[in-house]
Amino acid sequence: MSTLRFFALKESLSRLPITISENKKRSELFGKHVFGKEAMRQVLSHEAFQAVEAAINTGAKIDRLMADSIAAGMKQWALELGATHYTHWFQPLTGATAEKHDAFFEQTPEGNAIEKFEGAKLVQQEPDASSFPHGGIRNTFEARGYTAWDPTSPAFILDTTLCIPTVFVSYTGEALDNKTPLLRALAAIDHHATEVAKYFNKSVSKVTATLGWEQEYFLIDSALAASRPDIMQTGRALLGHAPAKGQQLDDHYFGSIPARALNFMKDLEQQCMFLGIPVKTRHNEVAPNQFELAPIFEEANLAVDHNSLIMDLMDRIAERHNLKVLFHEKPFAGVNGSGKHNNWSLATDTGVNLLSPGTTPMKNLQFLTFFVNTIKAVQDNEELIRASVASASNDHRLGAHEAPPAIMSVFIGKQLTAVLDELEKVTDGKLSPQEKTDLKLNVVGKIPEILLDNTDRNRTSPFAFTGNKFEFRAVGSTTNCAKPMVVLNTIVAKQLKDFKNEVDKLIDKKKMKKDDAIFNILREYIKASKKIRFEGDGYSEAWEQEALKRKLSNHSSTPEALAIQLDKRSVSVFEEMAVMNSVELKARHEIELEEYIKRIQIESRVLGNIAKNHIIPTAIRYQNLLIKNVEGLKNIFANDYENLAQEQIALITQISKYIGDINRDINAMVESRKSANKLNIKERAIDYNKNVLPFFDTIRYASDKLELLVEDKLWPLAKNRELLNLN
Ligand code: ADP
Ligand code: MG
Repeated sequence: MSTLRFFALKESLSRLPITISENKKRSELFGKHVFGKEAMRQVLSHEAFQAVEAAINTGAKIDRLMADSIAAGMKQWALELGATHYTHWFQPLTGATAEKHDAFFEQTPEGNAIEKFEGAKLVQQEPDASSFPHGGIRNTFEARGYTAWDPTSPAFILDTTLCIPTVFVSYTGEALDNKTPLLRALAAIDHHATEVAKYFNKSVSKVTATLGWEQEYFLIDSALAASRPDIMQTGRALLGHAPAKGQQLDDHYFGSIPARALNFMKDLEQQCMFLGIPVKTRHNEVAPNQFELAPIFEEANLAVDHNSLIMDLMDRIAERHNLKVLFHEKPFAGVNGSGKHNNWSLATDTGVNLLSPGTTPMKNLQFLTFFVNTIKAVQDNEELIRASVASASNDHRLGAHEAPPAIMSVFIGKQLTAVLDELEKVTDGKLSPQEKTDLKLNVVGKIPEILLDNTDRNRTSPFAFTGNKFEFRAVGSTTNCAKPMVVLNTIVAKQLKDFKNEVDKLIDKKKMKKDDAIFNILREYIKASKKIRFEGDGYSEAWEQEALKRKLSNHSSTPEALAIQLDKRSVSVFEEMAVMNSVELKARHEIELEEYIKRIQIESRVLGNIAKNHIIPTAIRYQNLLIKNVEGLKNIFANDYENLAQEQIALITQISKYIGDINRDINAMVESRKSANKLNIKERAIDYNKNVLPFFDTIRYASDKLELLVEDKLWPLAKNRELLNLN
């Protein structure tokens, strides 16, 4: 066995589970490192506290003097908890989080030291932003970027740093991050959903989008990971034969959690408690070494921040346990990949979940209104939804018969299908009193309050209604939830705005009663959004055929999927909802295409290097052993050796063939890259997908065959069966 692999295996096997002492109740730790209401009440003046509250609830501005007072309180709180530094914490378009730490420590002119943090530093900063992706925004406007405090997501202490969640925008106001458009989309849905909710309850004054994400991930031993340049550099195994025993026996899903993984989870969960992340669920997933983590749902902006924070936290904590977290959507061929379901709903400030059926016909009409509008929004913008989760890594998952297909569709279940079928029959125009009573009693009134029926679930649907929320399942495990949340909230906001206009028109012009008008518009929406509804098996071949007939999009690759972002209609939806302007949309489009190209380019280079520097030399070494053996046989058995060495000779020939295949394909792949690099960004992305990516499979095929042929002792890379074993 190669030295590196030998030591890695030895180290991995000798690692004992690290135990974490937990002597405090979780609830006692909850939010202790968050500058939330409780902390604010303790250190802020009443005025300062109210200023923050107003900023959170109504977006009110905080003046300089007040900011100084808040900063002073924040500093006092942070220093007491041992913080030495502060940072504006933001989410640039790399999809990760960014931070630049500054010490509180400052020197006075007299040479003494003090801890300082004033309002100006809290409210706004200028990170050296030139090296974050900006898709030409900054070139166009010659503007610098700055970060600005987002009071709706509370500051927190990570290790010894006070982290202040911020937006990141250019001086001309264009968003350079994921949070800015999210906040704008959440403002849009708040406004338009509130307007519609008022049809049913006049005292609703705010609607909040809620998000409950479910994060899937793999854990592998860090020493073994270190022997794999592909995993270290690309986050996935570009080669390696699938283990003989993978997930065929279904013995991992919900099985007992391996001790090392469990200790990592406990440690992680404890940190989450301090940071106010309400983690609730943990379990094994389908593939070996695959797990899932889910918190209780939260307001969408906070939930997005918490997901970004937890991904960062997981990397850090895994290190302490000699583990490596793989967030990639498809780290290992032959076993399931990872996703990040986004459970989404809308909640009013009167405590009602707008996607939860109620106890009265009126409450159910409200439910149906939001339910049908969401379906209509998804139908009219299915390509935008698809684009919001497109990435090089998620391409491995969507449509690969283990995750939702690349075709967007909505599943609602039998009961609600029956309700919508009935509503479709509603009379055009004013309803007779009899019809209305019938409708209310027998259709709307019959929707059971509890729809959370586990038997009526369809795991193959990318966008499923699950009783009191929609679950968007096509989101990739690496995706920043802000992206799908921006699109979903924007399109539903726009849909609700149109709905209100149409209902009001019927009330004004046709003198209809409010509920007559609502029934009439809903009926039209139900008719118009039939093509997006699908209750069958989303993984099946038949659905692909059917979807084609329905003219639903089926973009299997990122470059194809992203094209819709620049479509005139998409741009106008984002502009109308004041979420993004055409400059911002174009910038994002370019950044995403470029990221796609870079990811494939890096993978292609890494694969070429490993194949040439590890696989081929190892195969030749083993082939030389075989050749020596054949020579020896020839020396001893002279005439009869060909018979005796038959298998060895066959092996020698096979190895030569695979070496030849790999060399040929690597050379061809490099040529393809060269010609792709000459094209413009859009064509380049398509070319990388069509002409570079296919070589990954053929090179892998030959390399994995060699892995099976070559003596184990000689193989230099940790094998996938070794990586997929935590015990
Ligand atoms: P699963 O989808 O795994 O069967 P559940 O249906 O129990 O599990 O819930 C999945 C996720 O849905 C949880 O993370 C939960 O926080 C989230 N969730 C529940 N209600 C809401 C809601 N009103 N808004 C957003 N997310 C929600
Ligand atoms: Mg789920």
